[in-house]
Amino acid sequence: MSKGIQPIRGMNDILPEHTGRWQHLESVIREVLGSYGYQEIRLPIVERTELFKRSIGEVTDIVEKEMYTFEDRGGESLTLRPEATAGMVRAGISNGLLYNQRQRLWCTGPMFRYERPQKGRYRQFYQVDVEALGFPGPDVDAEMILLSARLWKRLGLKHITLELNSLGTSESRAIYRELLVSYFRDHHDRLDEDSKRRLEGNPLRILDSKNPDMRELIDGAPLLSDHLDEESQTHFQRLKQVLDQAGIQYTVNPRLVRGLDYYSRTVFEWVTDQLGSQGAVCSGGRYDGLVEQLGGPATPAIGWAIGVERLLALMESQDYPFPVEAPHAYLVVVGDEAEQAGLALAESLRDQLPGFRLETNCGGGSFKSQMKRADRSGAGVALIIGENEVDRCVAGLKPLRGGGDQQEVTWGDLAGKLRGFIEPGAGS
Ligand code: ATP
Ligand code: MG
Repeated sequence: MSKGIQPIRGMNDILPEHTGRWQHLESVIREVLGSYGYQEIRLPIVERTELFKRSIGEVTDIVEKEMYTFEDRGGESLTLRPEATAGMVRAGISNGLLYNQRQRLWCTGPMFRYERPQKGRYRQFYQVDVEALGFPGPDVDAEMILLSARLWKRLGLKHITLELNSLGTSESRAIYRELLVSYFRDHHDRLDEDSKRRLEGNPLRILDSKNPDMRELIDGAPLLSDHLDEESQTHFQRLKQVLDQAGIQYTVNPRLVRGLDYYSRTVFEWVTDQLGSQGAVCSGGRYDGLVEQLGGPATPAIGWAIGVERLLALMESQDYPFPVEAPHAYLVVVGDEAEQAGLALAESLRDQLPGFRLETNCGGGSFKSQMKRADRSGAGVALIIGENEVDRCVAGLKPLRGGGDQQEVTWGDLAGKLRGFIEPGAGS
């Protein structure tokens, strides 16, 4: 038998048994972001290719080998967004949101990268992306981190730790870059192919190499933290002080450089050791030069992105108590007359009880098979109508979980009786 058209590798269907988890997580994130005054923005998934080349940088994994780039019918080169910051900044500029204004924004949705699919690494994956534009100080860096820490706390997550670093200004990084290039040039024979290529275009990215054979060489490289400009040092110091005061633990990781070109000063990553090698759950940093570089007014900014699949995997591995959204009730209707009356009754109940989840048996079936379906639906009660009940305008109300006897309730009293299933304790 043909299996039909195959899905694309690394692009997953999120099935109904899991969408409740996504929705739950999204609602918690929405609530936490709202509590800091961040507003949602919704952006296109496709942008001009040039936007990503100019922001993420030409010599990065993403732009060199991971983008889904295509020509549209008008001959324009477009790209499925591999990340959200570039689009966020583009939208800020094209909508004039950044002239003498500050913005706290967030968005969520799929991102696309042509990577090698494996657990926690997909070609279509989801991010929640948070950005604060127009804020220069370490106070907002702290806010960004506190916000994410609050989210972990709200979710009761354990085994997630914060790594911090400062990349300095582009000027101080230029000086450091020279030192780094000369160090790696002195050890040219020990560089792998990727690193040799990066040596000219983007030597800092060598520090980010995931090749274990490069570890020792990288460990011996000069440290960026020894070459930070004074202002960046003060900025970093202040951030660390606020975090200390707030009781947020972190480790300074001088090798943390992040894979995109636009970062400056603060960079950070929330990592876990619970998800194998795909341990980065939330990553971000400051990008003070990007808005201007993309043609907008000079605007300091900072942001982070959560990998939603990885966060969900972490929650699952810690047995997070996801709420189960089964129907409250299942309506069993036996016989033609009951089917007709049942549909009308169900509509009336939905009118009277907003939020009441009532699944109606459609497609007939014996009493026994309908009761089986009712049970499988996970509903708390079955409402039962046969011809006899229709004649007397009543319904049988049978608890399906936790015992209790079946009762007979008139249609008029039914909504009142069922209210207790929506707001436990309110019914009788
Ligand atoms: P990694 O080092 O794991 O490749 P990254 O530095 O490329 O991550 P970012 O570009 O900063 O990641 O994206 C932010 C977050 O998005 C990451 O911390 C991670 O949780 C998630 N993420 C990145 N790439 C993928 C992917 N291919 N599949 C699933 N999640 C991803
Ligand atoms: Mg990556």
